[in-house]
Amino acid sequence: FIAPPLIKRFSHAAAGHEGVLRDESGALIIKPCLPKEVEFYQSATAHPNFARWMPTFMGTLQLNNETTSSLGDKPGVPPVPAVASGLPPSDKGESSTRSDATVKKPLEISIVLSNLTHGFVKPCVMDVKLGAQLWDDDAPQEKRARLDDVANKTTSRPLGFRIAGMKVWKGTSNDDYQVYDKNYGRKFTADNVIDGFREFLFSGDLSETQSKLITKKFADKVEQVLGVLESQESRMYSASLLFIYEGDPDALDQALEFEKKKEPGKGTLLDDEDEDEDEDDDNEDEEETKKAEDLKLIDFAHASWTPGEGPDLNSIHGVKSTLLLLRQLE
Ligand code: ADP
Ligand code: MN
Repeated sequence: FIAPPLIKRFSHAAAGHEGVLRDESGALIIKPCLPKEVEFYQSATAHPNFARWMPTFMGTLQLNNETTSSLGDKPGVPPVPAVASGLPPSDKGESSTRSDATVKKPLEISIVLSNLTHGFVKPCVMDVKLGAQLWDDDAPQEKRARLDDVANKTTSRPLGFRIAGMKVWKGTSNDDYQVYDKNYGRKFTADNVIDGFREFLFSGDLSETQSKLITKKFADKVEQVLGVLESQESRMYSASLLFIYEGDPDALDQALEFEKKKEPGKGTLLDDEDEDEDEDDDNEDEEETKKAEDLKLIDFAHASWTPGEGPDLNSIHGVKSTLLLLRQLE
């Protein structure tokens, strides 16, 4: 007898639909998704430079009826069993579109990904949604009009991104996160959205020096993402840059210390740059794998590889704007 894995509610989402789950250990998240996102992850193996900036794809999973219904909307979710499956059915046929209101349809496919907030003591998270155009060719006219309207009223149009949501740890004295919902990011203009970045990076419990250091690390990574996007032929609509940093000052110092230690001539990890993301965590019990920050691209529900079509100027616009703002704050 093998005990079924336990599934819990994921509490560190910064934006997006309800219904993201995690495994018991917290190393994995389980997100209901469209077949298109699964396809994008599966084909990303042919694009290693790009895949480096995506969460690690573990496979798919089909939650059974009892699992999905018992998750309900109750706050204290009891652990529930799930049925793991191999690859998703190739013909996902008829009603594959996910209703915004519910993620509890039976037989819905979920994607299993590395949890980017795992390993952080107090992860602070910002979801920056990319693109002035937020819809793909599959979208009906009504949806295009609705998303265009949001873009026109937010920084999405002029800057090619908007803040979709954030979570900032406000320190042990407050003992709480501040949560910034989707309306928070919609209020900014191109001229003042830097205040949103400042709020994310500088309003928590970190020292000014720590915050600046994190900002610099983010800027350097965004610059790398930009380079990758400029060299790829892909299209992403409504994908996001997901920023995560350690909001606990002591844990951050430890993480930075740890990074320093493994930097110079530490034989084994040399080819892996400063990212322990994709070395399959055999050393999970090793408490030392602390992270200072992480940045990844996420949300590929409307993403595809488009050979011959050149780089994704729509997403690149947003990444460039993000980089410019971060450089002003570092
Ligand atoms: P959607 O917007 O379609 O609901 P997303 O893929 O954008 O789905 O995920 C929603 C939220 O869940 C994101 O804003 C992010 O905070 C969180 N999230 C998504 N993927 C991961 C991941 N691999 N690790 C940690 N958090 C994630
Ligand atoms: Mn999203």
